[in-house]
Amino acid sequence: MINASDKDIVVAANVTKQFGSLKALNDVSLAIPFGAVQCIIGPSGSGKSTLLRCINQLEKIDGGAIWVDGELIGYRRVGDELHELSDAEIARQRLTTGMVFQRFNLFNHMTVLQNIIEGPLTVMKRPRREIVAEGMALLERVGLAEKRDSYPIELSGGQQQRIAIARALAMKPKLMLFDEPTSALDPELVGEVLAVMRDLAASGMTMIVVTHELGFAREVASDVVFMDKGEIVERGAPDAVLVAPQHARTRDFIAAVL
Ligand code: ADP
Ligand code: MG
Repeated sequence: MINASDKDIVVAANVTKQFGSLKALNDVSLAIPFGAVQCIIGPSGSGKSTLLRCINQLEKIDGGAIWVDGELIGYRRVGDELHELSDAEIARQRLTTGMVFQRFNLFNHMTVLQNIIEGPLTVMKRPRREIVAEGMALLERVGLAEKRDSYPIELSGGQQQRIAIARALAMKPKLMLFDEPTSALDPELVGEVLAVMRDLAASGMTMIVVTHELGFAREVASDVVFMDKGEIVERGAPDAVLVAPQHARTRDFIAAVL
């Protein structure tokens, strides 16, 4: 059996996920090294979101296994048996990953700074003074320090998404998951969010990015996966998959997106 490895932050081995009779993930295996930017592309309904949601345990898998940062997720091995982890243990494991969604999911009744310090304050129970300083540093990093006292509704979609990224980073994740983070944005706001993601990648953060921004994928990805119908159809270097794909399904998808 494939097992946790020292160089990979995520190892998925023969993962299946069903919704009723639908196989949203069908025997998916994927290893992602520390520091990698793994882009995932594929048509709507191909299982991209489901894969991210399984990696951070928003969904339970039906078959196979996933290791994140060296730990089998969701289960503990006792002899030959697997025992399900408690909710508290799962919550602890989930702290390894931060996630940014297509919709910004900010707390609308809180200011920008409150949004960012909420997790460290209530989940990690860290002292306010310390996390306010860290929160401000994160706001600088995403270029929105002057918005600390604004409410989400006062910000553009691009600004809200940059805050969502800062909020995820405030929990100091080892792995960041992005699920089509620019798909809900007006075209003129896409660039500012991609710029923040590019900086994050350059800083060495390990990232899994589901995106239709093929230019970004080609420039920033260390590796690209094309999924279709719950399966990994093709995987390789960005130029190999995006410019000279081997599979007709990949070619058709890229032609449709461009
Ligand atoms: P993608 O992100 O690539 O568009 P998804 O992972 O969202 O695809 O969905 C994969 C398949 O699983 C789709 O057919 C979708 O309708 C189905 N699916 C996803 N989530 C659920 C759910 N909670 N209940 C039932 N079906 C779901
Ligand atoms: Mg999706």
